[in-house]
Order: sequence, then C-alpha cells, then structure tokens
Amino acid sequence: MQIQVGNRSYITQRVFCIGRNYVAHAEELKNEVPDKPVLFMKPATSLVPPSKPVSFPKHGRNLHFETELVVLIGKEGRPVSEDDARSYVAGLSVGFDLTLRDVQDELKKKGLPWETAKAFDQSALVGDFVPYSQQMDLKNIEFTGSVNGAVRQNGHTGKMIFPIARLLMEIGKIWKLLPGDLIYTGTPEGVGPLTSGDSLSASAPWLGSFSWKVT
Ligand code: ZN
Repeated sequence: MQIQVGNRSYITQRVFCIGRNYVAHAEELKNEVPDKPVLFMKPATSLVPPSKPVSFPKHGRNLHFETELVVLIGKEGRPVSEDDARSYVAGLSVGFDLTLRDVQDELKKKGLPWETAKAFDQSALVGDFVPYSQQMDLKNIEFTGSVNGAVRQNGHTGKMIFPIARLLMEIGKIWKLLPGDLIYTGTPEGVGPLTSGDSLSASAPWLGSFSWKVT
C-alpha cells in the first residue's frame, strides 16, 4: 500500500504488530505480562485504508476489534537509543488489528503460529497518517475505538508496557527498519466481537477519525 504523509510518499512492505502491550489487556485475555514485546507480522496486503468495506472472514466466527496507535517508519536503520528511535518516526495514525479470537485460542492451545488468526486479508485497518514532529510526546497520545458510535476502547500511550521508542529499538534488533514499515503498537483493554453490519471508528485528537464498515 502507498502511504502519503505531507509531501512524502512511502510504500509499505511490512506490518509489525505488538501483542500484550497494555497490562489490563493482557489480563483480560488471561495472558502473562511479558518481559519482552510479543512480536508478530501481517502481510502488507492485509491493510485496508479508511472507508473501504471489510468482509467478515469465512474461516472463523469470533472477529474481535483491537484499536491501536499505528507508527509509520521514515528511514532505514537500527535505532541505538530511545532518543534515536524517535528520529525514525515519520507519521502516526490509528487503526484496528482485527483478530479471529476463536482461531487464535485454538492455535494458542496447540502452541501453533498465529497467522490464520491475525494475518488474513483485510485484518489491518489503518487511518491516514499525520506527520510526526518532535513536539508530539509519543508517551502522551490518547485514542479511542468505537463500534456503531459507542466508545469501546480508550487508549493512552503512557500506559504501554513497552513505549513506542523502545518498541522500535526491539524490532530493530531483529529487522533493520525500512521506510514505509508500519507498527501496530498493541491494544488497550476493551476488545470485543464484531458482526456483519457493524461500523468501526478509530479516533485520536491530533490524528483524526477513521471509519470502516464490516460487511
Ligand atoms: Zn493487536
């Protein structure tokens, strides 16, 4: 997917996602609070820009929304410190990491990889990006997720177990960051099921409000 931020454009080839980055969400799914970020990926072909319809997947029944702050990477390399990591951020947005919870529960029980629960077509809804400027405090961003107009999740990046700059460092130890990389930074508590016909919105005061409809 091509992403436009200000007068620059990026081609996204990779989507990194963080699991269990908020204590209350780890607890609601009865997961341990991790001492290192839980990392997984989705193909770039799973991305859905704002206002495009999202089809309910056919290989599971319990489709959950997870509202997340999304970071766009603007340069190539491996951050050496949290200060340095901020210089890799080109833009910010909000979106949804859609998850087939019934499929994931089955895979977790068997100790199998999560791709079919997390990385299916149209599983990564992403809003438009706002350019990141150093005045924005990455640890002080509020965002909300709504279903059919009712707020279901309230997130605050100050409550992350691993703050955004630390996530970039941890990912950079394994994959050299590339311009266009997206990072879904984890969901706060309040995740829940969706049905066909539901309308989803992700919003943040500085970033805007973006909506999708499940068909
Ligand atoms: Zn997630």
